[in-house]
Amino acid sequence: MRRKTWLILALCLTFFCARPVAAGRLPVTPTSSVAPPAVDEVPAPADLSAWTAHTLQWGEKVGCLAQRSGMDVTAVAEANRLLNPALLGVGSAVNLPPPEPRLLVAAHADDTPLALAVKHNLPLWEVLRLNPAPLYAGKSVQLPGAEAETGTCLPYPVSALSVSPQPVTRGRTALFVLETAEPAACEIRYLEQSEPCYPLDDAHLYALVGLSALMDAGAYTVKITVQSDGLETAFTVPLDVSAGRYGFQYIDPPGALSKLMDPELMQGELDYLAAWRAIRTPERAWELPLAFPLPQQVPVSAGYGDRRSYGGMVDGYHSGVDYRAWGGMRVLAPADGVVLLAERLEARGNAVLLDHGGGLVTGYWHLSRIDVEVGQHVQRGEAFALVGNTGLSTGAHLHWEMWVNGVAVDSTQWLSADAFSGLSLPPLDTLDVPVQ
Ligand SMILES: [Zn+2]
Repeated sequence: MRRKTWLILALCLTFFCARPVAAGRLPVTPTSSVAPPAVDEVPAPADLSAWTAHTLQWGEKVGCLAQRSGMDVTAVAEANRLLNPALLGVGSAVNLPPPEPRLLVAAHADDTPLALAVKHNLPLWEVLRLNPAPLYAGKSVQLPGAEAETGTCLPYPVSALSVSPQPVTRGRTALFVLETAEPAACEIRYLEQSEPCYPLDDAHLYALVGLSALMDAGAYTVKITVQSDGLETAFTVPLDVSAGRYGFQYIDPPGALSKLMDPELMQGELDYLAAWRAIRTPERAWELPLAFPLPQQVPVSAGYGDRRSYGGMVDGYHSGVDYRAWGGMRVLAPADGVVLLAERLEARGNAVLLDHGGGLVTGYWHLSRIDVEVGQHVQRGEAFALVGNTGLSTGAHLHWEMWVNGVAVDSTQWLSADAFSGLSLPPLDTLDVPVQ
């Protein structure tokens, strides 16, 4: 009796763990013609020789990767000595068998496993084996096929997803790039904020996630909703936010400026600017890296994100970067854009906002002179104002502010050629070139 149980167990292991994967189809029929192992043979573990180490990418789960290789997640967990594969994080290594070639399609509302089997001339059991979960409109369906490609763990039509940097320091910006198998639109939801993705071409979309310096560091979730061909699918991916290091500044302005430190005045000005924070212009006019907003390099006198206390009255954080520029120095546009605001504010002094599209807006405070009007186009490198000491300012300097989807972020990240750690967007001039 014990021997019989042992034999069945050995058969099961052979069936699920050690079968060849090259053909993309089950090599044995459900009735099985596998020769029984010798009675005294210890059940062999999965043949790991063809397995390779895979580093978990963003949004990948071991269960999906196992399924992609035609295996049960338990078998992969056992082979990797994992108690709970769901706990593995991005960057962890896991050994996997080679993936089976797969064709990915999206399920339509009237699709059933049987309808898909008939449509693609496949046995029903094979459709069910690769897609054990119930179908719904927009769900990614995996099928074996002659023109098969390696499957992905992302839902159809998303074929690849990149995010960088990861983890992202609070106060900085993360860039998401999606590749899709057919033209698609998408929306990204994070921190109770929903933002559109913007198209790069027929197969690529991008989205920006701007994070406040005041948010808590930790593990967050980003929900991505993709629409294509009348279908909608949504999935979530993790976003790790690290704390970063921010300083503290105690500023004691002269008495004449103290009336400007009134919390009501500060809040009123913030509320006034809220309307501009909500503006989203789809057309991207910026390119990485951004141009420096002054004609020459000058030292930073106050960094972005520093916690601030104005004479102990107003607490908050520094929402931009202060450059030690002298009065009258020209201020230059870091990218092409349109003037959103050009007026005198009480605390910010003479202020200009430039809209660069794709969710990116830059701001310039305390100017001595403004040379542009609302609605005017500016070009990258074009002078549009002069540095000054207007508003709540204790000396001539340029306060450079950047909003990503309405959130003030560290603009200096965008000055680096590698702002998004290896991930970049195509230059603007290649986007409008028609395909020959
Ligand atoms: Zn400042």
